[in-house]
Amino acid sequence: TNGDRLQHVKFRVRKCAEEEIIQGDQQRPSDEQVESLLQFEIEDGRNNQHTNTNTLTQNSITAMLSIKFRDIQKKLQQYGVKSPKFRKRLVSKWESLNYDIVENELSWKEYDESQSKRQLTLRWLGRWVIVFSIGIFTALLAAVLHVIVENVCHVKFSVLSHFLDKCAKEGCMYQAALIWITTNLVVTLLGSALVVYLQPMASGGGIPFIKAYLNGIKIPGLLTLEAFIAKVGGVILAILGGLAIGKEGPMAHAGGIIGAGLGKGRLRLCRNKQLSLYDSFRNDHEIRDFVAAGAASGVAAAFGAPVGGTLFSVEEAASFWSQEMTWRIFFSAMVGSFFTNFLLSSFHGNPHKLSAPGLVRLNGTDLSFDVREVPAFLIMGVVAGLIGAAFVVISYKLTVFRRKYFTRKWMKVLEAGVVASCSGIAAFLMMYLIDDCTDKQPYNSHAAISKMYCEGNKHHSLSTMLLASPEGSLKGLLHDPYGTFQPEGLVVFSVVYFFLAVWACGLSVSAGIFIPSLILGAAWGRLFGLGVLYLYPGDSEYADDVLRKYALIGAASQLSGMMRTTISLTVMVVECTGEISLGLPIMINLVISKWVGDFVSTGLVDMNIEVSGIPLLAWEPPPLCEDIKASDIMSQPVTFFNTKEKVGHIMEHLKTDTYNGFPVTSPNPDNPNEPGKLLGLILRSQLLVLLKHKAFAPQGSHQNSTLRLKDFTKYYLQYLKIDEIEISKAENDYIVDLKPYLLPNPYTVIPTFSLPRLFRLFRGLGLRHLVVVNDNHQPVGMITRKDLAKFRAESKRGLVKIEHLKI
Ligand code: ATP
Repeated sequence: TNGDRLQHVKFRVRKCAEEEIIQGDQQRPSDEQVESLLQFEIEDGRNNQHTNTNTLTQNSITAMLSIKFRDIQKKLQQYGVKSPKFRKRLVSKWESLNYDIVENELSWKEYDESQSKRQLTLRWLGRWVIVFSIGIFTALLAAVLHVIVENVCHVKFSVLSHFLDKCAKEGCMYQAALIWITTNLVVTLLGSALVVYLQPMASGGGIPFIKAYLNGIKIPGLLTLEAFIAKVGGVILAILGGLAIGKEGPMAHAGGIIGAGLGKGRLRLCRNKQLSLYDSFRNDHEIRDFVAAGAASGVAAAFGAPVGGTLFSVEEAASFWSQEMTWRIFFSAMVGSFFTNFLLSSFHGNPHKLSAPGLVRLNGTDLSFDVREVPAFLIMGVVAGLIGAAFVVISYKLTVFRRKYFTRKWMKVLEAGVVASCSGIAAFLMMYLIDDCTDKQPYNSHAAISKMYCEGNKHHSLSTMLLASPEGSLKGLLHDPYGTFQPEGLVVFSVVYFFLAVWACGLSVSAGIFIPSLILGAAWGRLFGLGVLYLYPGDSEYADDVLRKYALIGAASQLSGMMRTTISLTVMVVECTGEISLGLPIMINLVISKWVGDFVSTGLVDMNIEVSGIPLLAWEPPPLCEDIKASDIMSQPVTFFNTKEKVGHIMEHLKTDTYNGFPVTSPNPDNPNEPGKLLGLILRSQLLVLLKHKAFAPQGSHQNSTLRLKDFTKYYLQYLKIDEIEISKAENDYIVDLKPYLLPNPYTVIPTFSLPRLFRLFRGLGLRHLVVVNDNHQPVGMITRKDLAKFRAESKRGLVKIEHLKI
C-alpha cells in the first residue's frame, strides 16, 4: 500500500540522509528535521512529476529517491546542525567482511567431489605452503628494506657529516643546513606523493587498519599491490627524508598485503589469470587467516619476536581463535623471523651465526636489576604513561585539524614536506647550538659521526643520534657508553623529538610509530639513568649498565604509554630485549604506563580507529547494558524475499536498498506483503551473481540452473555492482529460485535477547548478520555487526555511560 511504501521510503531517506551527514561529519538530524525535510522533498517530488493527487505515486517516490543527498546535507546545515566530536561517530562507508562460511544446497551438492581425500590433502598442504611462502617473502622484504634504508641513510648522513665538518672550518654553515633541509624536503615530497596519489591507505603504519580488517571490516585498497608499493617505497623515502618515524609498523601492514596476495593466488594486473587451485581459499574467512599470518610474520621479522608476532595477530583476530589457525600463524611468524635473521646475518658476512634476529633489537649485554630499583621503574611507568597520553591527545587534535582543513591531495603532500624541512632545521640547530663533545666511540658503527666544532679527537655527541637511521639512533641511545651524552643534550633532544614525532604521526606518508616511541623513551630513560647515577655513583662499568638498563626500561614503557600494552606488545618487548631476567620490571612498567595513559586517553591505535569512524567490535560488551534487548537494536521493517522471487522485485530492492543480507521466507498465505516462515538468508553478493548469470526462468517453466560454486568465488575478487547488471523489461517478471543458494540455517535470536549475549555471538562467531524472529519463526528485525558496534561505553570517573554512536 502507499502507506507501507511511504514508511519504507521514509526509513530509506532517513538512513541515506544520516549516512551522508555522518560522512560529512555532521550531527544526526532530529526526527522533526527529517520529517520536515521529507515533506519538503515529497512536495518537490510531486511538483516535479506534475501530480496533484494526495496519494503518493510511483513516480513521486522514484523522484524522491533520486534526491541528491548533498542537497539534504546543505539544508540540514541551514537547520544549524553542528559537527560532533570525531571520536563520537562511525562512518558507514566501512563495510563488514563475511567470516561466516556460506553453506547451501550448491555447496552440499559439490561436497562429494571436493571432499575426496586427494582434494582435502591438497587443500591442507596448500595452506601450509602458502603460510610458509608468506614467511619467506616477508623476511625477504624485511631484509631488503633494512639493507636499503641503512645504506641509503649512511650515504646521506656521510655527505652531511662531510659538509658539517668542512663548513665548521670554512664558516659556511648555511650551506650544510641548506643541503640538509633541501634533501629532507625533496625526498619526503616524493614519498608523500607516492602514498597520496597511488594509494592513501598506505599512509601511517597501517596497524589500525590491519587490526580493523582482522576484526571483520572491509577496508578498500588496504591489501592491494598499489598499497604495497606505496607502503614500501614510501617508508624508505620518508626515513631518508629525516622524519621522526620507523619502518617496523609498516612491516606488519606489508606482511598483511603479502598474506592476502599469496592467499588469493591472483594478480589484479592479470585480471583473468586465477589459479584454480586457490578456488577454495577465495573467501573472507580463508583470506583473513593469511592476512593474520602475514601481519604476524611482519611483526616477527621486524622485532625478531615470533611469539609476539603470533600473539599480535591472534589477539586482534582472537574472536575466531582456532588451534589450526594459530599453528599456521606461528609457523609463518617463525619462518619470517628465522629467515630475516638468516638473510641479515648473511649480509653481514656470518650466515651461520644468526646474529640479527630482527630489524631492531633492544638488548646487547646482560642486564640485571636490584629489587630496590622497582620504585624507580614505577616512576618511569608513570612518566611514560603521561608522555604517551600527551602524545595521543596532541596527535588527535592534529588529525582532526588535518581532516578538516587539509582536504586536497597537494596540501597533504606539502604538509609532509614542511614537517620534513622543520625536522631538518631542528636537527641542524641542535647540532649547531648544543656544545656537546665526546671522545667515546659510538656503539653504532654505522653512524656518520661529525666533529663540528669539537677539538682533538672528539666528535659531536648528538651526531650519533641525528646522523643515523632511526634504528641506529636507538642503538646509540641504548648502548653508547657513559659520558657520551650530556644531560642538556638529552633534554633538548627528548623535547624536540617528541614534537617532531607528534607532528610526523598522522602525516600522509608511510610511517610507523614503534621506533619513535622507543627512541623517545630511550632518550629520557637515559636521562633518568643519569639522575640515578648522580644519586648513586659507581665505576664506569656500573655506570654503563645503569644507563643501558634505564634507557631500555624507558624505551619499553614509552612504547606501552603510546600504544597501550596488550599481551602481544609485552611479549614482543620481552622477546626483543632477550632479557628474561628483566621480564618482571618490564611487565610492571608496561602495565603502569598503560594504566596511567588510559586514565587520560585511549591508545594511539585505538584513537586512529575511532577518528576514522571504523565500527570496531570491542573485546567485551559495554558494561551495564543487560537491559538493552535485540528489539531495541534491530532494524525493522525487514526487507525479505520469498524463495521463488520475481527478478524485478529483487532488482528494485538491490537498487534502492544498501542492505547486504536479506532473509528468505516461505510465502505468507495470509498477507503476501508480510514475511512467512524464515527459510534462510541470502547475501547481496550472491543475488548479484545470480542476476548476472541470469539464473532465472519465466514463471511456470522449470528453472535449470547450471551455476556452480566457482561462479560465486570468481566474483570474490571482482566486486559486482548493481549497475553492471542488465535486465530486460520482459525478464523483470521472470522467477529466481533462491533455494539452492540461500544459507538455510542462519543464526537467529528472539527479540528479548540481551545486548551482551548478542555481542558475544557476533564476536565469537564472526557474524555479519543476525535475523530476529518472532514465535512463529517469521523475521521481525535485522541486526548487523555495525548495529552492535554503535554501542560503546564511555567511562567518566567511575560512571559508565553507554553511548549509541551514530552511523
Ligand atoms: P555492512 O555494510 O558492513 O554489512 P551495515 O550495517 O551497513 O553493515 P547493511 O546490510 O547495509 O549493513 O544494513 C544497514 C542497516 O540496515 C543496518 O542497520 C541493518 O540493521 C539494516 N538492515 C540490514 N538488512 C536489512 C534488511 N534485509 N531489512 C531491513 N533492514 C536491514
